[in-house]
Amino acid sequence: MAPLDVKNFINGEFVNSSDEKTFDLFSPYSGDLVAKAVESTAEDVDKAVDAAKAAFPAWSAMSPSQRGKPLAKLAQMITDADEELAKLDALSLGRPVSTWFDGYYAAMHFRYFAEAAYPVGTSSLNTPGFINVSLRQPYGVCAAIIPWNSPLVFYSKKLAPALAAGNTVILKTSEKAPLSSDKVTQMLNEAGFPPGVVNVVHGHGAVAGGAISSHMGIRALSFTGSLRTGRLIQKSAADSNLKHLIFELGGKSPAIIFDDADLGRAARETQHSIMWHSGQTCMANSRIYVQKGVADDFISAFNSLAAARKLGDPTLKETDSGPQADKTQFETVLKYIEEGKKTGKMVEPDTKLPADHADLFVGPAVFLQQPEDSKVMKEEIFGPVVCINTFETEEEALKIANDTEFGLYAAVYTKDLDRAMRVAKGLESGMVGVNCTSPTGAWDMPFGGYKGSGVGRESFLLSMDDWLEQKAVYIRVGGLESSGAVSSTLGR
Ligand code: NAD
Repeated sequence: MAPLDVKNFINGEFVNSSDEKTFDLFSPYSGDLVAKAVESTAEDVDKAVDAAKAAFPAWSAMSPSQRGKPLAKLAQMITDADEELAKLDALSLGRPVSTWFDGYYAAMHFRYFAEAAYPVGTSSLNTPGFINVSLRQPYGVCAAIIPWNSPLVFYSKKLAPALAAGNTVILKTSEKAPLSSDKVTQMLNEAGFPPGVVNVVHGHGAVAGGAISSHMGIRALSFTGSLRTGRLIQKSAADSNLKHLIFELGGKSPAIIFDDADLGRAARETQHSIMWHSGQTCMANSRIYVQKGVADDFISAFNSLAAARKLGDPTLKETDSGPQADKTQFETVLKYIEEGKKTGKMVEPDTKLPADHADLFVGPAVFLQQPEDSKVMKEEIFGPVVCINTFETEEEALKIANDTEFGLYAAVYTKDLDRAMRVAKGLESGMVGVNCTSPTGAWDMPFGGYKGSGVGRESFLLSMDDWLEQKAVYIRVGGLESSGAVSSTLGR
């Protein structure tokens, strides 16, 4: 296959960067060059902001149902291209097609927000002499910066509500995985989005991402990615125009397994959670705490399941796990494995590495009884690496599970409902699974994290709020004053 040519999409046209620079994208499986993509400059971001600014008045003046038409059409076009989209992410980031749900997810989001966007404010008669109302209004020019592990999930999760709310948007893809986003971007004109309503730029984070975070013309920014980058974006936003921020960041998610749990289910699901997509998932349960009495049985079941994983060509349906997304990711994971070997014991389930193209594959790695303060227990590794420790009491389990600066997802397995609910309440985490673990979730429930795992929440029901300002309007109405009282919005 000839390398694809990935360009920026600004004001409805596919364009090169201002300095014509591109970067090469290689398949982590075959090593082949799969694309040459635009390396965007700050000037490109400026052009995208100008286009979005010009498109905003007409787009925001449309009715929600008018704005919904291109969203709904895009949903159908994504569904029609589902297989091709899965293949593009398999090529660019080694994501096995067997793990692909992203096309369905993206279509559902564009379809849902095509019809759900009727934001309404409130009204109040609580101030004598006034009828007060609040308005929900779009911010104007907004932006989204997305990661590489499920590109289309984030492309849709951010664009759909932002656009439905009446904003115009600049989206930056990840330098590791621009292909599926580019394919969907190629559908935008045919779907009926007016020029400038959606603008997509590609490139590395420091330049294009930095230009977006510090841009004075962008009023809201939704970011999904690492805690490290989140900190940088927050600083840039504070130093520029204090833009509204929504963050979905990393995790070091615990799963607690009590001795009365369905051990088979717990082993199957926790193994899937951390090994799925080669451990490159924000909410993967990378720390597992098992009650002492059942630890040996659990670990043995977990290791057999991990050993049975089929590692190989991500474009084949029978493959469970692909390579790490690129050399940097691969080397980072190996570094953590070496670090973990210094502080604790490691078991390698007997998983077969592929015969060909094994360069960037990491087999499942299971650490046992790592000290709670070791690096592998504290930092997000983003690889097929899990730490399994034991505990004796419920109090102890909660204490160690919460001893982290992350708080994205936590799980508890037990048949005792009272205990399940006590633990669910006590866990410092934005999402908790009871007798289930990530990636189990629900699209109408708040998605997001406590502590360093994020700021704000996304979901079918909540995401519109992320993209709408609120305005109070105080309306003095003659004849409504109560006699003798001072009419004022202070309510005296
Ligand atoms: P990353 O932070 O390295 O990059 C994410 C995006 O930010 C990319 O588009 C990148 O180009 C851009 N970026 C990098 N440096 C930047 C800068 N200085 N300014 C502005 N933008 C910059 O993360 P990643 O490696 O792409 O993704 C993995 C991380 O994302 C993990 O930490 C994972 O847990 C997290 N993640 C979180 C969720 C969630 O919903 N909470 C979902 C998926 C991934």
